[in-house]
Amino acid sequence: MADDSAEDPRSWDVATRLVRGGLMRSEIGETAEALYLTQSFVYDTAEAADARFAGQDPGFIYSRYGNPTVAMFENRLALLEGAEACRGTASGMAAVHLAVTGLLRAGDHVVAGKALFGSCRWILNNWAPRFGIEATFVDGPDLDAWRKAVRPNTKLFFLETPANPLLEMCDIAAISAIAREIGAKVVVDNVFATPIYQKPLQLGADIVVYSATKHIDGQGRVMGGAVLGSQALVDEAYRDFIRHTGPSMSPFNAWVLLKGLETLDLRVRRQSETAAALADRIAAHAKVKTVRYPGRTDHPQHELAKRQMTGGGSLIAFDLGTQAAAFRFLNRLQLVDISNNLGDAKTMATHPSTTTHRAMTEEQRLEIGLTAGWVRLSVGLEGVGDLGRDIDRALDAA
Ligand SMILES: *Cc1c(COP(=O)(O)O)cnc(C)c1O
Repeated sequence: MADDSAEDPRSWDVATRLVRGGLMRSEIGETAEALYLTQSFVYDTAEAADARFAGQDPGFIYSRYGNPTVAMFENRLALLEGAEACRGTASGMAAVHLAVTGLLRAGDHVVAGKALFGSCRWILNNWAPRFGIEATFVDGPDLDAWRKAVRPNTKLFFLETPANPLLEMCDIAAISAIAREIGAKVVVDNVFATPIYQKPLQLGADIVVYSATKHIDGQGRVMGGAVLGSQALVDEAYRDFIRHTGPSMSPFNAWVLLKGLETLDLRVRRQSETAAALADRIAAHAKVKTVRYPGRTDHPQHELAKRQMTGGGSLIAFDLGTQAAAFRFLNRLQLVDISNNLGDAKTMATHPSTTTHRAMTEEQRLEIGLTAGWVRLSVGLEGVGDLGRDIDRALDAA
Protein backbone atom coordinates (compact mmCIF):
# COMPACT_ATOMS: atom_id res chain seq x y z
CA MET A 1 0.00 0.00 0.00
CA ALA A 2 1.33 3.43 -0.92
CA ASP A 3 1.84 5.80 1.96
CA ASP A 4 1.50 9.52 1.49
CA SER A 5 4.83 10.66 2.94
CA ALA A 6 7.00 12.56 0.47
CA GLU A 7 9.51 10.34 -1.30
CA ASP A 8 13.20 11.17 -1.33
CA PRO A 9 13.94 12.27 -4.92
CA ARG A 10 17.09 10.11 -4.74
CA SER A 11 14.80 7.06 -4.78
CA TRP A 12 13.17 8.18 -8.05
CA ASP A 13 13.77 6.55 -11.43
CA VAL A 14 16.17 8.38 -13.73
CA ALA A 15 13.23 9.47 -15.91
CA THR A 16 11.50 11.10 -12.94
CA ARG A 17 14.67 12.78 -11.70
CA LEU A 18 15.16 14.37 -15.11
CA VAL A 19 11.65 15.81 -15.27
CA ARG A 20 10.99 16.70 -11.63
CA GLY A 21 14.40 16.91 -9.96
CA GLY A 22 15.41 20.28 -8.51
CA LEU A 23 12.08 21.92 -9.41
CA MET A 24 11.49 25.01 -7.22
CA ARG A 25 8.04 26.39 -7.97
CA SER A 26 7.39 29.99 -7.03
CA GLU A 27 4.19 31.17 -5.34
CA ILE A 28 2.78 31.78 -8.85
CA GLY A 29 2.53 28.04 -9.50
CA GLU A 30 4.15 27.98 -12.98
CA THR A 31 4.26 24.60 -14.79
CA ALA A 32 7.70 24.99 -16.38
CA GLU A 33 10.76 25.97 -14.39
CA ALA A 34 10.90 29.74 -13.90
CA LEU A 35 13.59 31.73 -15.65
CA TYR A 36 15.03 34.13 -13.08
CA LEU A 37 16.77 36.67 -15.29
CA THR A 38 18.03 38.81 -12.46
CA GLN A 39 21.50 39.93 -11.52
CA SER A 40 20.94 40.48 -7.86
CA PHE A 41 18.39 40.04 -5.07
CA VAL A 42 16.80 42.40 -2.56
CA TYR A 43 16.31 42.18 1.20
CA ASP A 44 13.37 43.23 3.36
CA THR A 45 15.62 44.76 6.00
CA ALA A 46 19.24 45.65 6.61
CA GLU A 47 19.30 42.83 9.16
CA ALA A 48 18.18 40.36 6.46
CA ALA A 49 21.03 41.48 4.18
CA ASP A 50 23.43 41.15 7.10
CA ALA A 51 22.23 37.59 7.79
CA ARG A 52 22.41 36.60 4.09
CA PHE A 53 25.99 37.83 3.76
CA ALA A 54 26.93 36.17 7.03
CA GLY A 55 25.77 32.86 5.58
CA GLN A 56 23.10 32.45 8.30
CA ASP A 57 20.32 32.63 5.72
CA PRO A 58 20.80 30.45 2.60
CA GLY A 59 19.08 32.79 0.08
CA PHE A 60 20.59 34.24 -3.08
CA ILE A 61 22.83 37.34 -3.17
CA TYR A 62 24.16 37.89 -6.68
CA SER A 63 23.93 35.72 -9.80
CA ARG A 64 27.69 35.34 -10.04
CA TYR A 65 27.48 33.33 -6.78
CA GLY A 66 24.18 31.60 -7.40
CA ASN A 67 20.82 31.97 -9.14
CA PRO A 68 17.54 30.05 -8.65
CA THR A 69 17.27 28.84 -12.28
CA VAL A 70 20.92 27.79 -12.25
CA ALA A 71 20.32 26.08 -8.88
CA MET A 72 17.45 24.06 -10.37
CA PHE A 73 19.77 22.92 -13.16
CA GLU A 74 22.53 22.07 -10.67
CA ASN A 75 20.17 20.14 -8.40
CA ARG A 76 18.63 18.20 -11.29
CA LEU A 77 22.02 17.21 -12.71
CA ALA A 78 23.33 16.28 -9.24
CA LEU A 79 20.31 14.04 -8.74
CA LEU A 80 20.94 12.34 -12.10
CA GLU A 81 24.65 11.86 -11.37
CA GLY A 82 24.09 10.69 -7.81
CA ALA A 83 26.38 13.50 -6.59
CA GLU A 84 25.95 15.56 -3.44
CA ALA A 85 26.85 18.81 -5.15
CA CYS A 86 26.94 20.38 -8.61
CA ARG A 87 28.05 23.79 -9.86
CA GLY A 88 27.01 25.02 -13.30
CA THR A 89 29.53 26.93 -15.42
CA ALA A 90 29.47 29.07 -18.56
CA SER A 91 30.95 26.34 -20.77
CA GLY A 92 32.47 22.90 -20.58
CA MET A 93 35.95 24.41 -20.66
CA ALA A 94 35.12 26.73 -17.76
CA ALA A 95 34.14 23.54 -15.89
CA VAL A 96 37.36 21.72 -16.80
CA HIS A 97 39.54 24.71 -15.89
CA LEU A 98 37.71 25.10 -12.57
CA ALA A 99 37.77 21.37 -11.82
CA VAL A 100 41.49 21.02 -12.44
CA THR A 101 42.96 24.27 -11.13
CA GLY A 102 40.68 24.41 -8.08
CA LEU A 103 42.42 21.28 -6.81
CA LEU A 104 46.00 22.41 -7.48
CA ARG A 105 48.63 24.92 -6.47
CA ALA A 106 52.15 25.85 -7.64
CA GLY A 107 54.52 22.89 -7.34
CA ASP A 108 51.83 20.25 -7.92
CA HIS A 109 51.99 17.59 -10.62
CA VAL A 110 49.17 16.13 -12.73
CA VAL A 111 49.02 12.81 -14.57
CA ALA A 112 46.59 12.83 -17.50
CA GLY A 113 45.53 10.48 -20.25
CA LYS A 114 47.05 11.74 -23.49
CA ALA A 115 43.87 11.34 -25.53
CA LEU A 116 41.95 14.43 -24.44
CA PHE A 117 39.64 17.05 -25.88
CA GLY A 118 42.01 19.61 -27.45
CA SER A 119 41.36 22.48 -25.02
CA CYS A 120 41.71 20.20 -21.96
CA ARG A 121 45.14 19.27 -23.20
CA TRP A 122 45.93 22.98 -23.77
CA ILE A 123 45.07 23.83 -20.15
CA LEU A 124 47.50 21.21 -18.86
CA ASN A 125 50.18 21.71 -21.54
CA ASN A 126 50.17 25.46 -22.10
CA TRP A 127 48.37 27.21 -19.25
CA ALA A 128 49.02 25.32 -16.01
CA PRO A 129 52.85 25.54 -16.37
CA ARG A 130 52.57 29.34 -16.02
CA PHE A 131 51.44 28.74 -12.47
CA GLY A 132 54.07 26.16 -11.66
CA ILE A 133 51.90 23.10 -12.31
CA GLU A 134 53.40 20.33 -14.40
CA ALA A 135 51.64 17.54 -16.26
CA THR A 136 52.71 14.14 -17.56
CA PHE A 137 50.62 12.56 -20.33
CA VAL A 138 50.26 8.78 -20.37
CA ASP A 139 48.68 6.12 -22.53
CA GLY A 140 45.26 6.06 -20.79
CA PRO A 141 44.50 2.32 -21.05
CA ASP A 142 47.96 1.39 -19.66
CA LEU A 143 47.59 1.20 -15.84
CA ASP A 144 51.34 0.76 -15.34
CA ALA A 145 51.93 4.01 -17.17
CA TRP A 146 49.73 5.85 -14.64
CA ARG A 147 51.66 4.23 -11.77
CA LYS A 148 55.07 5.00 -13.30
CA ALA A 149 54.17 8.65 -13.95
CA VAL A 150 53.46 9.33 -10.27
CA ARG A 151 55.85 11.73 -8.50
CA PRO A 152 55.96 12.72 -4.84
CA ASN A 153 54.04 15.90 -5.72
CA THR A 154 51.33 14.24 -7.87
CA LYS A 155 48.00 15.64 -6.69
CA LEU A 156 45.64 14.94 -9.56
CA PHE A 157 44.75 12.35 -12.21
CA PHE A 158 42.74 13.73 -15.13
CA LEU A 159 41.09 11.52 -17.71
CA GLU A 160 38.48 11.42 -20.42
CA THR A 161 36.75 8.15 -21.26
CA PRO A 162 35.73 7.29 -23.91
CA ALA A 163 38.23 9.81 -25.25
CA ASN A 164 37.94 12.16 -28.16
CA PRO A 165 38.18 11.32 -31.02
CA LEU A 166 39.05 7.60 -31.26
CA LEU A 167 36.95 6.43 -28.27
CA GLU A 168 39.84 4.91 -26.36
CA MET A 169 38.88 3.96 -22.81
CA CYS A 170 40.44 4.33 -19.36
CA ASP A 171 39.56 2.07 -16.42
CA ILE A 172 38.08 4.60 -13.97
CA ALA A 173 37.94 2.19 -11.00
CA ALA A 174 41.53 0.97 -11.40
CA ILE A 175 42.96 4.46 -11.98
CA SER A 176 40.99 5.81 -8.99
CA ALA A 177 42.44 3.03 -6.82
CA ILE A 178 45.99 4.05 -7.81
CA ALA A 179 45.15 7.68 -7.03
CA ARG A 180 43.75 6.79 -3.60
CA GLU A 181 46.98 4.96 -2.68
CA ILE A 182 48.98 8.14 -3.26
CA GLY A 183 46.37 10.59 -1.97
CA ALA A 184 45.69 12.21 -5.35
CA LYS A 185 42.27 13.30 -6.61
CA VAL A 186 40.64 11.99 -9.80
CA VAL A 187 38.75 14.21 -12.24
CA VAL A 188 36.84 12.51 -15.08
CA ASP A 189 35.56 14.33 -18.18
CA ASN A 190 32.40 12.29 -18.79
CA VAL A 191 31.07 14.08 -21.86
CA PHE A 192 31.33 11.21 -24.34
CA ALA A 193 29.73 8.60 -22.08
CA THR A 194 27.03 11.00 -20.79
CA PRO A 195 25.56 10.78 -17.26
CA ILE A 196 23.09 8.22 -18.63
CA TYR A 197 25.72 5.57 -19.41
CA GLN A 198 28.64 6.08 -17.02
CA LYS A 199 28.88 7.04 -13.31
CA PRO A 200 32.51 7.96 -12.50
CA LEU A 201 31.78 8.92 -8.87
CA GLN A 202 30.41 5.44 -8.19
CA LEU A 203 33.60 4.00 -9.71
CA GLY A 204 35.82 5.97 -7.33
CA ALA A 205 36.42 9.32 -9.05
CA ASP A 206 36.28 12.48 -6.93
CA ILE A 207 34.98 14.96 -9.51
CA VAL A 208 33.02 14.62 -12.75
CA VAL A 209 32.95 17.38 -15.36
CA TYR A 210 30.56 17.95 -18.25
CA SER A 211 30.26 20.14 -21.25
CA ALA A 212 26.47 20.63 -21.06
CA THR A 213 26.82 22.08 -24.56
CA LYS A 214 26.87 18.50 -25.83
CA HIS A 215 24.16 15.91 -25.03
CA ILE A 216 22.63 17.83 -22.10
CA ASP A 217 21.48 20.61 -24.41
CA GLY A 218 21.72 18.28 -27.38
CA GLN A 219 19.78 20.63 -29.61
CA GLY A 220 22.47 23.06 -30.73
CA ARG A 221 21.43 26.08 -28.66
CA VAL A 222 23.51 27.11 -25.64
CA MET A 223 26.90 26.60 -24.01
CA GLY A 224 27.21 25.28 -20.48
CA GLY A 225 29.24 23.09 -18.18
CA ALA A 226 29.13 21.48 -14.77
CA VAL A 227 31.39 20.19 -12.01
CA LEU A 228 30.05 17.52 -9.63
CA GLY A 229 31.33 15.78 -6.51
CA SER A 230 30.91 15.59 -2.75
CA GLN A 231 29.57 18.68 -1.01
CA ALA A 232 32.73 19.03 1.05
CA LEU A 233 35.10 18.91 -1.93
CA VAL A 234 32.96 21.12 -4.18
CA ASP A 235 32.69 23.74 -1.41
CA GLU A 236 36.34 23.62 -0.50
CA ALA A 237 37.82 23.54 -3.99
CA TYR A 238 35.33 25.55 -6.04
CA ARG A 239 32.89 27.73 -4.07
CA ASP A 240 35.12 30.75 -3.48
CA PHE A 241 36.81 30.28 -6.87
CA ILE A 242 33.44 30.61 -8.66
CA ARG A 243 32.36 33.47 -6.41
CA HIS A 244 35.42 35.58 -7.07
CA THR A 245 36.37 34.69 -10.65
CA GLY A 246 32.90 34.39 -12.24
CA PRO A 247 32.81 31.38 -14.60
CA SER A 248 29.10 31.23 -13.72
CA MET A 249 26.34 29.82 -15.91
CA SER A 250 23.81 32.26 -17.33
CA PRO A 251 20.26 31.72 -15.96
CA PHE A 252 18.94 31.71 -19.51
CA ASN A 253 21.32 28.91 -20.48
CA ALA A 254 20.42 27.03 -17.28
CA TRP A 255 16.75 27.24 -18.25
CA VAL A 256 17.43 25.81 -21.72
CA LEU A 257 19.59 23.08 -20.20
CA LEU A 258 16.88 22.19 -17.65
CA LYS A 259 14.59 21.53 -20.61
CA GLY A 260 17.40 19.55 -22.23
CA LEU A 261 17.71 17.37 -19.13
CA GLU A 262 13.99 16.49 -19.32
CA THR A 263 14.57 14.58 -22.56
CA LEU A 264 18.23 13.55 -22.05
CA ASP A 265 17.52 9.92 -21.28
CA LEU A 266 15.18 9.50 -24.26
CA ARG A 267 17.55 11.23 -26.65
CA VAL A 268 20.75 9.50 -25.56
CA ARG A 269 19.13 6.06 -25.68
CA ARG A 270 17.75 6.63 -29.18
CA GLN A 271 21.03 8.15 -30.42
CA SER A 272 22.96 5.22 -28.98
CA GLU A 273 20.61 2.64 -30.53
CA THR A 274 21.01 4.30 -33.93
CA ALA A 275 24.79 4.59 -33.45
CA ALA A 276 25.06 0.84 -32.72
CA ALA A 277 23.20 0.01 -35.94
CA LEU A 278 25.25 2.48 -38.00
CA ALA A 279 28.55 1.25 -36.54
CA ASP A 280 27.77 -2.26 -37.82
CA ARG A 281 26.72 -0.91 -41.20
CA ILE A 282 29.89 1.21 -41.52
CA ALA A 283 32.08 -1.74 -40.43
CA ALA A 284 30.59 -3.87 -43.22
CA HIS A 285 31.57 -1.39 -45.95
CA ALA A 286 34.62 -2.29 -48.07
CA LYS A 287 36.09 1.24 -47.93
CA VAL A 288 36.35 1.21 -44.14
CA LYS A 289 39.58 -0.04 -42.57
CA THR A 290 38.66 0.15 -38.89
CA VAL A 291 35.60 1.10 -36.86
CA ARG A 292 35.68 2.12 -33.21
CA TYR A 293 32.48 1.91 -31.23
CA PRO A 294 32.47 0.94 -27.53
CA GLY A 295 29.42 -1.29 -28.01
CA ARG A 296 31.10 -3.47 -30.66
CA THR A 297 33.02 -6.58 -29.65
CA ASP A 298 35.95 -5.50 -31.87
CA HIS A 299 36.57 -2.36 -29.78
CA PRO A 300 40.02 -2.94 -28.21
CA GLN A 301 38.52 -2.40 -24.74
CA HIS A 302 35.08 -3.86 -25.22
CA GLU A 303 35.30 -5.80 -21.93
CA LEU A 304 36.01 -2.56 -20.05
CA ALA A 305 33.18 -0.84 -21.93
CA LYS A 306 30.78 -3.56 -20.77
CA ARG A 307 31.95 -3.21 -17.17
CA GLN A 308 32.10 0.55 -17.00
CA MET A 309 29.33 1.78 -19.30
CA THR A 310 25.70 0.73 -19.56
CA GLY A 311 25.45 1.72 -23.25
CA GLY A 312 27.72 2.30 -26.23
CA GLY A 313 27.03 6.02 -26.64
CA SER A 314 26.33 8.18 -29.67
CA LEU A 315 29.84 8.52 -31.13
CA ILE A 316 31.57 6.37 -33.73
CA ALA A 317 35.05 6.75 -35.26
CA PHE A 318 36.23 5.08 -38.45
CA ASP A 319 39.33 5.08 -40.61
CA LEU A 320 39.12 5.55 -44.38
CA GLY A 321 42.88 5.31 -44.88
CA THR A 322 43.73 8.74 -46.28
CA GLN A 323 42.72 12.36 -45.86
CA ALA A 324 41.57 12.42 -49.49
CA ALA A 325 39.18 9.50 -48.86
CA ALA A 326 37.90 11.11 -45.63
CA PHE A 327 37.27 14.40 -47.47
CA ARG A 328 35.48 12.59 -50.34
CA PHE A 329 33.27 10.93 -47.73
CA LEU A 330 32.47 14.21 -45.95
CA ASN A 331 31.82 16.12 -49.17
CA ARG A 332 29.40 13.48 -50.48
CA LEU A 333 27.16 13.58 -47.37
CA GLN A 334 23.78 15.19 -48.01
CA LEU A 335 21.86 14.74 -44.77
CA VAL A 336 24.68 14.50 -42.23
CA ASP A 337 26.34 17.86 -41.48
CA ILE A 338 30.07 18.53 -41.45
CA SER A 339 30.64 20.05 -38.01
CA ASN A 340 33.00 19.97 -35.06
CA ASN A 341 30.14 19.68 -32.55
CA LEU A 342 28.79 16.48 -31.01
CA GLY A 343 25.90 15.13 -28.98
CA ASP A 344 23.38 17.03 -31.11
CA ALA A 345 19.98 15.94 -32.45
CA LYS A 346 21.50 16.46 -35.91
CA THR A 347 24.04 13.88 -37.01
CA MET A 348 27.46 15.43 -37.56
CA ALA A 349 30.69 14.22 -39.13
CA THR A 350 34.11 15.63 -38.29
CA HIS A 351 37.60 15.24 -39.70
CA PRO A 352 39.51 15.54 -36.40
CA SER A 353 43.07 15.91 -37.66
CA THR A 354 42.28 19.08 -39.68
CA THR A 355 39.75 20.59 -37.22
CA THR A 356 39.31 19.65 -33.55
CA HIS A 357 42.80 18.17 -33.22
CA ARG A 358 44.58 20.59 -35.52
CA ALA A 359 46.34 22.35 -32.62
CA MET A 360 48.20 19.14 -31.71
CA THR A 361 51.52 18.44 -33.37
CA GLU A 362 51.67 15.65 -35.93
CA GLU A 363 53.69 13.67 -33.41
CA GLN A 364 51.08 14.14 -30.67
CA ARG A 365 48.36 13.02 -33.08
CA LEU A 366 50.31 9.91 -34.01
CA GLU A 367 50.79 9.12 -30.31
CA ILE A 368 47.03 8.75 -29.95
CA GLY A 369 46.70 6.90 -33.28
CA LEU A 370 45.00 9.78 -35.04
CA THR A 371 45.99 9.56 -38.69
CA ALA A 372 44.42 11.63 -41.49
CA GLY A 373 41.96 8.93 -42.59
CA TRP A 374 39.85 9.04 -39.39
CA VAL A 375 36.34 10.44 -39.33
CA ARG A 376 34.28 10.97 -36.18
CA LEU A 377 30.52 10.63 -36.41
CA SER A 378 28.16 12.03 -33.76
CA VAL A 379 24.85 10.27 -34.26
CA GLY A 380 21.67 12.31 -33.83
CA LEU A 381 17.96 11.65 -33.81
CA GLU A 382 17.15 11.28 -37.51
CA GLY A 383 15.74 8.02 -38.88
CA VAL A 384 18.29 5.23 -39.01
CA GLY A 385 17.31 4.31 -42.59
CA ASP A 386 17.90 7.83 -43.91
CA LEU A 387 21.23 8.09 -42.10
CA GLY A 388 22.34 4.67 -43.28
CA ARG A 389 21.62 5.48 -46.94
CA ASP A 390 23.40 8.85 -46.71
CA ILE A 391 26.45 7.27 -45.09
CA ASP A 392 26.51 4.36 -47.55
CA ARG A 393 26.46 6.72 -50.54
CA ALA A 394 29.26 8.78 -49.04
CA LEU A 395 31.31 5.67 -48.25
CA ASP A 396 30.86 4.47 -51.86
CA ALA A 397 32.37 7.82 -52.96
CA ALA A 398 35.23 7.74 -50.44
C1 LIG B 1 33.10 19.88 -25.87
C2 LIG B 1 33.94 19.25 -24.87
C3 LIG B 1 34.56 20.00 -23.87
C4 LIG B 1 34.44 21.51 -23.79
O1 LIG B 1 33.13 21.97 -23.64
P1 LIG B 1 32.61 23.38 -24.18
O2 LIG B 1 31.20 23.42 -23.71
O3 LIG B 1 32.76 23.37 -25.66
O4 LIG B 1 33.44 24.44 -23.56
C5 LIG B 1 35.35 19.34 -22.94
N1 LIG B 1 35.51 18.02 -23.00
C6 LIG B 1 34.94 17.25 -23.95
C7 LIG B 1 35.17 15.79 -23.95
C8 LIG B 1 34.13 17.83 -24.91
O5 LIG B 1 33.56 17.08 -25.86
